[in-house]
Amino acid sequence: MPMSQMKFYIHALVCCICWLGVLTVAGAEAKPADAAAVQTEAVQAIPDKGKLPSASGKEEMRRYDPAADRSPAEDIPVVETNFSFAEPLLVRPDTKGIVIHHVGMPSGDTSAEAIHKAHLAKGWAGIGYHYVIRKDGTIERGRPLAAVGAHAQGHNFDTVGINVTGNFDTERPTAEQLASLERLLVFLCRIYDIEAGVTTIEGHRDMNATDCPGDNLYRLLPQIRRDVKVQTAEKELEDADIWELLKKDR
Ligand SMILES: [Zn+2]
Repeated sequence: MPMSQMKFYIHALVCCICWLGVLTVAGAEAKPADAAAVQTEAVQAIPDKGKLPSASGKEEMRRYDPAADRSPAEDIPVVETNFSFAEPLLVRPDTKGIVIHHVGMPSGDTSAEAIHKAHLAKGWAGIGYHYVIRKDGTIERGRPLAAVGAHAQGHNFDTVGINVTGNFDTERPTAEQLASLERLLVFLCRIYDIEAGVTTIEGHRDMNATDCPGDNLYRLLPQIRRDVKVQTAEKELEDADIWELLKKDR
């Protein structure tokens, strides 16, 4: 394979949404901010069709039922999107961790709806992430939280996927995005009894061959884990205090 073509294929493993359906720019020289070359979450986000969850192989996969399988409401505002999915969703049998993504291309702000349409256009069931965090910190719903996602190949059956919009190979996440991300992670850690750590709050690159979520977000993950651990402990203390007060009132 010629070197220029090899460079292209290597670079094409860099991103998240595979937004323009590319890989048709063969021979393009690898440049970090090259919009045409950064296009491959397609490879990573393909649903694990037919695979059984690694940790729960004996459990029977069940179709997601919006009435019966509704997750606890978030304690932070989440904009409902009520997307229609092209295929029935499955209930995620286990939740052991959370995977952080970026959009890659396009850079800047991207809505959950735009991602949903892009993923539908690829013939997928619809948006593969459970949440999308916009530049102003707004959290939008993607897939229902209890449903199996399609965001990290081989890990969709026991993780939740969060997409922080932007291209963090070149941009930096906004303060509003980071604040919303941490609050959302605290909520998820609490409802799924997850302790924030390197094996439970991961970047997409930790599990698949991709640069996602970009260096400028990935290098913040250690601090984000520490913050989430502290905030989770504080919330638990608050709840314990309230419980004590309630007992005294009896
Ligand atoms: Zn990703």
